[in-house]
Amino acid sequence: MVDSVPFESLHGVIMQRYRTYLIFGAPGSGKGTQGKSLGTIPRFFHCACGEVFRSIDTRTALGRKFVEYSSRGELVPDEVTVELWRVRIEHCEEAHAFKPDIDHLVLDGIPRNLAQAKIMDDIINVQRVFHLSCPDRSKLIERLRKRAIKENRLDDANETVIRHRLEAYEKESKPMLDFYRPEIVCHIDASQPPVVVFSKIVALVAQDAAAESAVELPG
Ligand code: ADP
Repeated sequence: MVDSVPFESLHGVIMQRYRTYLIFGAPGSGKGTQGKSLGTIPRFFHCACGEVFRSIDTRTALGRKFVEYSSRGELVPDEVTVELWRVRIEHCEEAHAFKPDIDHLVLDGIPRNLAQAKIMDDIINVQRVFHLSCPDRSKLIERLRKRAIKENRLDDANETVIRHRLEAYEKESKPMLDFYRPEIVCHIDASQPPVVVFSKIVALVAQDAAAESAVELPG
């Protein structure tokens, strides 16, 4: 499916918007696990915004900004976040790790609020939003506690910070779902085992791929 609205890259090159799947949900809902899994399939390229932030040298101004906000359980300001993400994606493109003409982009953790969704709308052509829904907050808190130990995540270690992140999700992130057409928003029960969640995501993505290849076939 060719998208007809192009955008200008950071280097002034005119590009087609990236065909994108969004993995969306509260902290601890399993976005990273699902995003990583989808990214192992050929022609899917996974990019997690939290990982992009964690890879920055904390001695730089941006690295310090990330530590400052994330340790309070707050979102990093939108402009710097989207700019950082764009620079990372374009590096991946230059390195030929991400090939936008044949790959689908799988984003987790970005866009994370309405303002980011609006800024990014010129760059990404969202095919579907997978909303990993987990109304049972105690389950999320339990997962985050385990992750704090396993992945040495400071922002997961503190109960007050965790609660603050869950509140920020409800207030700032969740309303972002309304930005996308309801037909492309898929709500999936995130309290199910990862393989069950993944099978639902893959089924929908495979359905899209089959429809695309049917369109590409001659007559
Ligand atoms: P989680 O999904 O558990 O919140 P992430 O690894 O996605 O974990 O994010 C960790 C932290 O990085 C967030 O709490 C936030 O401070 C910052 N962050 C990640 N993505 C964004 C974003 N799109 N906008 C603003 N801040 C972000």
